[in-house]
Amino acid sequence: MLKINNLKKHFSGIKAVNDCSFGVEKGKITALIGPNGSGKTTMFNLICGVVEPDDGKIIFSTNTGDRNIVGMSVEKISNLGISRLFQQSRLFKNLTVLENLLVAEDNEDQKFWKNICGLNRFDKSKTEKATKILNDFGLNEITHLTAGELSFGQKRLVELARNILNYHTVLVLDEPVAGVNPKIRDDIAKIILQMKKDGETILLIEHDMSFTLGISDKVIVMDAGKIIVTGTPEEIRNNPEVLRIYLGK
Ligand code: ADP
Ligand code: MG
Repeated sequence: MLKINNLKKHFSGIKAVNDCSFGVEKGKITALIGPNGSGKTTMFNLICGVVEPDDGKIIFSTNTGDRNIVGMSVEKISNLGISRLFQQSRLFKNLTVLENLLVAEDNEDQKFWKNICGLNRFDKSKTEKATKILNDFGLNEITHLTAGELSFGQKRLVELARNILNYHTVLVLDEPVAGVNPKIRDDIAKIILQMKKDGETILLIEHDMSFTLGISDKVIVMDAGKIIVTGTPEEIRNNPEVLRIYLGK
């Protein structure tokens, strides 16, 4: 589905992503974990097109074939089918939860204003889908609150709902559970597992090892820009090198 080949990104001497290769398989939860500063968000930004690599390829498989998405705009990559959850919230805080799901997420002003002015509000099927996802997520009682009134964890759930609603074939999540309370952490674990049951392909980028190992199929461990181990959650849990880098930082 997604193949990362020898990807490199250096920031004035810091090797943030240093010759990394791995694959994301269709219908599976692939996790990329590592301590703070290991290069996870840089990898996320490279995949989403926020940052361009110095070298390497990112091959994305779509129903029209495989293509290298390096050099494509964020918008193009998103339209091709990569939906992403940023580490920082990107909700419009004056819009309601439901409106946030119905407006275009990108900063394309024209599309944004068209949405706000109500043209797409009459898109009944999108509204119905959004309402269903919010119900599935247990958010039915807060659909009419503005995003500014939500807790941090609720915002994460709403953003995840928006990721699912928007067209995509793969979801790339940057630290979905960082800073959320244990209840929402469990809700997000259940949602991600349900998404997999529904056939979604997920690349989960996380710092929280116990959360990640509980739900992933394959785990890739990064440290200082390099991939140091790849394995099943069991293999990772018992790997002394992984424990060392996690406990050492
Ligand atoms: P993680 O998400 O695993 O915590 P990051 O990808 O955010 O790690 O950062 C990896 C390394 O790259 C860090 O040393 C960080 O300081 C550096 N880095 C990330 N983005 C930039 C940037 N835009 N400019 C300079 N250095 C950066
Ligand atoms: Mg990060």
